[in-house]
Amino acid sequence: MTKIRTRFAPSPTGRMHVGNLRSALYEFLIAKHAGGDFMLRIEDTDQERFVEGAVDIIYDTLAKAGITHDEGPDKDGGYGPYVQSERMKTGIYMKYAKELIEKGEAYYCFCDKERLSTLKTEVVEGKEIMIYDKHCLHLGKEEVEKNLAEGKPFVIRQNIPMEGTTTFHDELYGDITVENAELDDMILIKSDGYPTYNFANVVDDHTMNITHVVRGNEYLSSSPKYQRLYDAFGWKSPVYIHLPLITDENHKKLSKRSGHSSFEDLLEQGFLPEAVVNYIALLGWSPEDNREIFSLDELIKEFDYHRINKSPSVFDYMKLKWMNGEY
Ligand code: GLU
Ligand code: ZN
Repeated sequence: MTKIRTRFAPSPTGRMHVGNLRSALYEFLIAKHAGGDFMLRIEDTDQERFVEGAVDIIYDTLAKAGITHDEGPDKDGGYGPYVQSERMKTGIYMKYAKELIEKGEAYYCFCDKERLSTLKTEVVEGKEIMIYDKHCLHLGKEEVEKNLAEGKPFVIRQNIPMEGTTTFHDELYGDITVENAELDDMILIKSDGYPTYNFANVVDDHTMNITHVVRGNEYLSSSPKYQRLYDAFGWKSPVYIHLPLITDENHKKLSKRSGHSSFEDLLEQGFLPEAVVNYIALLGWSPEDNREIFSLDELIKEFDYHRINKSPSVFDYMKLKWMNGEY
């Protein structure tokens, strides 16, 4: 039997949303329930999204929630988290991107801002995204070499064919098949040499032997692209569990405006960390009986991930209040 290995891979972007804390908690519980290992990996290669101080918030939140990691670079006699901007210095992401280029699964793109600004855009989930037209896929080898020798700035893009379909499996949602034509040739390595978090995420999950991934279902739409990367490398993908959104009472995404969307908000309002962890555990997972009060150790004992469900989770502030009184 392979050892269960999970990870929490946050991007340091601010306070920890209860949805992220739930992913961290489930990853932790899946590993501990099975006697496996849980890792913490900071995904900080996206400099644009980086928020000062956010890494400390992550450590602090996990510590207060009792979620401890098992492995990582030695630091002051203990384990530090894995940090992608540090891992990058070994050249690991560039090495794998070049392997994809060799295989014809990725290519250099030298298009400048000006050219890209003339391309078609599409609105996906409220965001305007550019559809790359594969111009650089058709550059000859000589031209690519000439551009590289001249030091022309480049990105590396994933090569997704226009024909065919890609199928991806999720534990909760089953098989999801998409038309390849709907997937854009996403950037794997940016012009500053940093990997995008999508790419670093796949390379790291594989190289760290991660067996189970829990994350919010906002990643469901990019998952076929992840699957294509696994297939291109000939790697086995981890078991993916995409969790339904946590909503407010009006069935809208639980947002900052609610005033209680992050772990820190809740602690500031006087909730006990144990109560919040207990409440969040039950937002999308149910035990075999209808018991509601659990310590973290009891959760570890009971947590069978097959009982995670995909019904939308409504954040019930009054229920949390009640729970808090039970501690
Ligand atoms: N860095 C991504 C995020 O937190 C990770 C997604 C994942 O868990 O795979 O936003
Ligand atoms: Zn190009």
